[in-house]
Amino acid sequence: MSEFDFDLFVIGGGSGGVRAARVAAGETGAKVGLAEEDRYGGTCVIRGCVPKKLMVFASTYGDMAEDAQAYGWDMTAGDFNWDTFHGKLAGELDRLEGIYRKLLAGSGVETFDQRAKVVDAHTVELADGTRKSAKQILLAMGGRVSVPEFPGSDLAITSNEIFHLPELPKSILIVGGGYIACEFAGIMNGLGVKTTQFYRGAQILRGFDDEARGLVAEEMIQRGVDLHLGTNVLEMEKVEGGIRVKATNGTEHVFDQVMYATGRVPNTDDMGLEEVGVKLGRKGEVLVDDYSQTAVPSIYAVGDVTDRVNLTPVAIREGMAFVSTVFRGEPMKVDHELIPSAIFTQPEMGTIGLSEEDAAAQEPIEVYSTSFKPMQQSFAGRSDRVLMKLIVSQASRKVLGCHIVAPGAGEMIQLAGIAVKMGATKEDFDRVVAVHPVMAEELVTMRNPTRTA
Ligand code: NDP
Repeated sequence: MSEFDFDLFVIGGGSGGVRAARVAAGETGAKVGLAEEDRYGGTCVIRGCVPKKLMVFASTYGDMAEDAQAYGWDMTAGDFNWDTFHGKLAGELDRLEGIYRKLLAGSGVETFDQRAKVVDAHTVELADGTRKSAKQILLAMGGRVSVPEFPGSDLAITSNEIFHLPELPKSILIVGGGYIACEFAGIMNGLGVKTTQFYRGAQILRGFDDEARGLVAEEMIQRGVDLHLGTNVLEMEKVEGGIRVKATNGTEHVFDQVMYATGRVPNTDDMGLEEVGVKLGRKGEVLVDDYSQTAVPSIYAVGDVTDRVNLTPVAIREGMAFVSTVFRGEPMKVDHELIPSAIFTQPEMGTIGLSEEDAAAQEPIEVYSTSFKPMQQSFAGRSDRVLMKLIVSQASRKVLGCHIVAPGAGEMIQLAGIAVKMGATKEDFDRVVAVHPVMAEELVTMRNPTRTA
């Protein structure tokens, strides 16, 4: 009989927490409790990746209908009905949350639908005052959106609200130049909303390959997003017919809605963490070692709350590695190098490894890059362009980075990512026979470097 109520108590029912809880309980026989104050599934399932991707799909059918005409189909798209889509979306999220709850119950995890905080190295307190002791505590509270404060900032919505608007706005201003801002600019534009985007810097998607983000920006503008670079909001006020926005570029416009996507912060406020000795970083993130262990040996943390690489599959791996280390006695570090990822802008971007700029700062490189009009869209009369790009080390010949801007780039980078992760050289890519006619065949047919650096 253990001296604790649980072997493991997990705080947070998102991707990382749920995976760790159900593997620890279901596969190692640990007695596991989990507390979640909101809906099970976390940011990814409830207010992130999943509903976002469904909205991306919804937003592409208008163009598809136009292209179908060019291919000889007698059809017109008509109007997008937000109520129809929104009702289905809500039902889908309910279904997915149900699956998460079932998975937890099926593995024997005891769940508590309330907030929990840490009171000492082995105790958590639930919102109703009940205390539970546990040999290990796993912090998996994720993150939340962060909106800067300025006059009228409370009028802004965020990615939390965008999925639940009572009606689709006629116009929207999206502020920010990161993943969320750029993805929603494409979604709203595709759904027929007049979309304006403000980004304070010189080019959207800071940190990604310059050529790739430049092409994404060009294509977004060409598809109708009114993108203003070097521009920020000064103040906002509610007026008849919407929100009046005064911008740093001297303009004033009224928008139906303003959505802020200016980053996310770890959910560590008022959790009792520093009081028990858990160390937090500058953004409030839980500081952990390679095994996700905090400064308190019995407390671990995984996922966005640690602000390492804020992606669902990474949180899941961190959760699995934690179970292996703590419950199977097989210490496992998570490898945070060479993680492929996709940005669901329109067009999509898939990326792994170093940008041209970062690689060139590190060592002499060759750049292989080609941009062209893809067959399917070109035939339909569109001027869309795609990009296939490899960054190659001159010394080792290894592909240091692969960047794709194209419809389906997310699917492509998952596969190209295997080769890059394995350490494939440019010559390994070249040994592969092209699949024809597909866009990605360019990745194995680029003979001469576009430039060296
Ligand atoms: P990001 O950190 O990616 O981008 C934040 C953006 O807001 C940046 O362009 C930043 O500008 C700008 N910004 C920050 N503060 C201000 C301010 N005070 N005023 C004006 N602009 C400001 O955050 P997101 O919210 O887009 O996404 C959060 C995280 O979620 C991502 O980092 C990613 O890990 C994850 N995510 C992943 C997705 C995917 O894999 N497809 C999709 C969505 C989210 P600047 O560049 O100048 O700092």
